[in-house]
Amino acid sequence: MLAALAGGVGAARFLRGLVGVTDPSELVVVVNTADDDVFHGLHVSPDLDSVVYTLAGAAEPTRGWGLAGETFRCLEGLERYGNPTWFRLGDRDLATHLYRTERLRAGAPLSAVTAEVARAWGLQPRIVPMTDDRVSTVVTVRGPDGPVDLAMQEWFVRERAEPPVVAVRFDGAAAARPAPGVLEAIEAAGTIVVCPSNPVISIGPILAVPGVREALARRREHVVAVSPIIAGAPVKGPADRLMAPLGIEVSCVGVASAYRDICGALVLDAADRHRASEVESLGLHAVVAETLMTDDRVAATLARDTLAAVA
Ligand code: GDP
Ligand code: CA
Repeated sequence: MLAALAGGVGAARFLRGLVGVTDPSELVVVVNTADDDVFHGLHVSPDLDSVVYTLAGAAEPTRGWGLAGETFRCLEGLERYGNPTWFRLGDRDLATHLYRTERLRAGAPLSAVTAEVARAWGLQPRIVPMTDDRVSTVVTVRGPDGPVDLAMQEWFVRERAEPPVVAVRFDGAAAARPAPGVLEAIEAAGTIVVCPSNPVISIGPILAVPGVREALARRREHVVAVSPIIAGAPVKGPADRLMAPLGIEVSCVGVASAYRDICGALVLDAADRHRASEVESLGLHAVVAETLMTDDRVAATLARDTLAAVA
């Protein structure tokens, strides 16, 4: 069995490669849900949907969110009523949120609903939310009159990640329980991969669910991470705007320092090979590979190199 910790887009691209080089039915993907929020009364789980849509081959390839070939007629309709529509939800995507919300309202846990959604998209890997409880990333930014708390999507999408970050917290995490199967997967997996995801707001919330960090630390020699930072910058997204203010160097060495308690190995990009010895001196085995996933073939090679790092 194989386990993976995943955020959204970076993780999803990597997982597309991973399912090409392993038995997908042996894979359990534990996904961040601290980006979840309610829009127009609907429960939206951006990272779960990015992983499911991408593995199903249905994701919009360049934009980084949503389904390919989407229309936005419903959102146009909501604009008429003055509802804020800065969080873009496509018409077909809305079906997922309608279904999820209805099932949650009927009392089904998010893990059960997620399994139903993944099955409906024909996926073989098991997709598991990190928790069935509500955890919310709150980004505290510097406002004109002092610190202001923003929900993660307000900061990232509405404010375009522009307000300077002062602090990040995960409301609800301390009281959350890992979803069924999360700790079991970490304990039973031959290898656990920390996908190339945002270390602060994608992997951070998963580690903040009580018991997860400890379970990974016990399996440290079987845990390998892929750096989402190449040559001192994220490939996409605001990781730099979150790592730097929290005192994490925006580099593969910073990623290594953030993961040193839970990871035995780190895959870093060929562009960062000169930093391998610094990663090693933090106590992680450093593996140099091509990590820029320009297509599924590169992602598959990266997945193979990643599994070999802790074999
Ligand atoms: P999000 O929730 O959609 O932002 O998704 P993730 O947290 O999973 O992914 C964002 C991270 O993925 C960013 O820090 C990117 O730098 C990283 N990423 C995206 N594409 C690639 C890639 O091709 N290679 C590597 N190494 N990282 C990537
Ligand atoms: Ca996300």
